[in-house]
Amino acid sequence: MLTKAIEAIERALLQLEPHRSVKLINSTPPWAVERIQRARFRRTLRLAAERSPFYRLQFRRRNIDAARIEHPSQLGDFYTTGEDLRAYGAHAFLTGRPDTAFETTGTTSPIPKRVFFSNYELEEMGRCSAVALYRLGIRPQDRVFSAYDSSFWVSPVVLKMAVQFLKCFHVEAGKIQPLEFYQRARPYQPNVIFGEPSWLLRLSEIANQHGTWGTKFLFGGGENMTEDAREFVEHVWSAPLYLSYGQTESFGTLGVECQLKEGYHRNDLFFFFETPEVDTEGYGELVYTTLAREVMPLIRYRSSDLTKIVDEPCACGFFVGRLAKIRARCDEVVVCGMGNVGPWVFAEILRDVNGSAPDWQAIIRHGEQRDVIELHLETDSHARADELEAIVLRHLRERLPDFWKNHEMKLYDLRLKTSPPGTLRNGRKLRRVVDQRQMQALPRKNS
Ligand SMILES: [Zn+2]
Repeated sequence: MLTKAIEAIERALLQLEPHRSVKLINSTPPWAVERIQRARFRRTLRLAAERSPFYRLQFRRRNIDAARIEHPSQLGDFYTTGEDLRAYGAHAFLTGRPDTAFETTGTTSPIPKRVFFSNYELEEMGRCSAVALYRLGIRPQDRVFSAYDSSFWVSPVVLKMAVQFLKCFHVEAGKIQPLEFYQRARPYQPNVIFGEPSWLLRLSEIANQHGTWGTKFLFGGGENMTEDAREFVEHVWSAPLYLSYGQTESFGTLGVECQLKEGYHRNDLFFFFETPEVDTEGYGELVYTTLAREVMPLIRYRSSDLTKIVDEPCACGFFVGRLAKIRARCDEVVVCGMGNVGPWVFAEILRDVNGSAPDWQAIIRHGEQRDVIELHLETDSHARADELEAIVLRHLRERLPDFWKNHEMKLYDLRLKTSPPGTLRNGRKLRRVVDQRQMQALPRKNS
């Protein structure tokens, strides 16, 4: 009886018009979501164990009997990694016939990861995204423009699906130069604009000079953004900027901000989230299992992103739990004389240093006596580098006393180098923290 009721809710949630789904989700008790998750997890695991050569092999090697596993944590130290996707190839993960594929290139390897999907999955993800966007206020009368990069990237496709369910006007501009976008989009007066955060920032700088139009909100996906940059964009457009968090491997959105922008509300119906190993603050690598995928399910996929699972209720009233703002990619956390540092440390030091300063990068290298942290900052202000460096050091002292203590103990040197806007980034993603010490230690490779 109970199972039947849950299955009915499960089916109904995604088959309704977005506004009805929102209502139903709000009236679904948390225990029902948990039951749906468990049922979907068991289905996914059995599917993977039966049909995917990769999972069949791994489970046999580890004596894992999929029929007996009820919860991801029972899989012990078994995980799927991005390296597995590259090494075994996407075909080893397939459990059904794919209709399409997308690719992702991370900051660690030039070899792309390929991920396959069915049209049905695409439609389901679209419905799910439509619900999230409806909650943020998109309605049929809105004019949605997107400048997402459409080359092998999943986001514009999911967005297109979502706006179909939301029934609003939609133009896919592709990732063109912000100035060209501004000139060509302006006649349409789009009131909802999607793009990558760094691209939205550039667009806003142009709009700041040439004028804006009435905007409901902006939406950033694909990378993190500093709160300074967000404030600047919101100020220019007099409208909020919301961020989502996702990966190509997850088929887009794992979580979306609400109006309060205090973390991403999780998509618990499509994913099972875990952070198996956490630090004293509760932060650890996010691991997720797909719950609604039939072509290429992923079991306990290591996201490489450092975050915290937040189950305390959000003041917005939505019962679904959250993921804290992503602190870093795990491979960007570096142990050096400064301490255990990642991008959030430098973002905090640079807050208010350069207004809407576009990009920065921290490079860690061996100095003669101690580690040297070179903070490269793009700036368009006329302030001298030594003046900015003094501000950076003051921020370090006031905001991050533990890291300051190590500075006073001369465990590291911090130097600031400035460059004009647009000089640091040469790909879609900018690696924030680069540890050059290993490269210095290794003999030079023949090339
Ligand atoms: Zn909320």
